[in-house]
Amino acid sequence: MSEGIEMSVEFSKAEGREPQGLKDAGHHILKCSNCEKPLCDIWVIDPNAQITEKYWANCPYCGDKSYQQQISGGVAPGGYARPIDGVSNEDWPLLTLIEDYLYPEDGSIQLKIIKNRS
Ligand SMILES: [Zn+2]
Repeated sequence: MSEGIEMSVEFSKAEGREPQGLKDAGHHILKCSNCEKPLCDIWVIDPNAQITEKYWANCPYCGDKSYQQQISGGVAPGGYARPIDGVSNEDWPLLTLIEDYLYPEDGSIQLKIIKNRS
């Protein structure tokens, strides 16, 4: 068994999921509709989950916001990390953080984004 498989099984136990139900089904990067900066990364970790939501984010750079993006499945939203060639993605610096989740009356989910100052 490879190290990567062992790690994913451990993670699955921690999340209370069956290992075969957890996989990388893709990342959705929400970008600002005005300045086009990447705002956050919504990672689909459970594509079989019967969940569809519309996500959007405010822009901490220009004050505008992203378009709404409809995403199906169980997700793990996070801040946006800028990729660096030759560097492991675990060490990519986070440029933004999700400070809060807001639920507007239209049924969408707003990710409240702030700049990462650390
Ligand atoms: Zn913007």
